[in-house]
Amino acid sequence: MESSVLQLTDSTWVFPCHPDPEKLQPNVGIIISGGQTVLVDGGNSPHHARSILNALDELNAPPVRHIIYTHSHFDHFFGAQVFGAPAIAHELCRQRVQEMALKPWSYSYIEDEIQQTPERAIGLRNIARVMDEWRGFRVIVPTMTFTAGMRLYLGDLRVDIEHVGGQHSPDSSVVRVPSEGIIFVADAYYPPVPDYRQPGDTADFDLLARLLADETIQHIVDGHSTPLVRDVALALLAKREG
Ligand SMILES: [Zn+2]
Repeated sequence: MESSVLQLTDSTWVFPCHPDPEKLQPNVGIIISGGQTVLVDGGNSPHHARSILNALDELNAPPVRHIIYTHSHFDHFFGAQVFGAPAIAHELCRQRVQEMALKPWSYSYIEDEIQQTPERAIGLRNIARVMDEWRGFRVIVPTMTFTAGMRLYLGDLRVDIEHVGGQHSPDSSVVRVPSEGIIFVADAYYPPVPDYRQPGDTADFDLLARLLADETIQHIVDGHSTPLVRDVALALLAKREG
């Protein structure tokens, strides 16, 4: 069964992450205003992205004008080609995506990489598992970048992108729609990815607390779990601090 979109505020929706973590389909944010659609991340594969595109059709969403990449992990942008829209990302994210765009992606390329760099095996196997085919696959390299942050206007709706970095990926950025009290944080506060995780690594709750210090934030959408409302997120923080 395909998931369908969840409306969170007047102008924002989320195409929810897949309940099976093995599928590695993260939340994809959808912001619609001023006759345009902006996505927060582009899906983990063309297959995933086509489900998102169907959901956008059901919503009667206007054309996708931009895709904001939250960070350079493949599951957040390997579907981007499906939307036919330019991507926006932090400068370091663009650099890393650009490097990935130059690889000759195929199952045999991934097998060779695993042989040569076994320390990257978990991440590489994840890619091979979620991609149902490589024919016609293209990495969309961002054509607009920022360093500290940037602002978009969808008509009158302001969207703020801010680089936060962090242990999960140094190129992580978060996306706020201030007038609607929502923030898309993707994986920014998560532990490092499994290939690089050390015993004892935990989520970066300080980063989450810093983001929640903005009291106008009512909805927090991270990469791979159910969107949280403010009180639930604060309760999680309190539990961990208590
Ligand atoms: Zn990630």
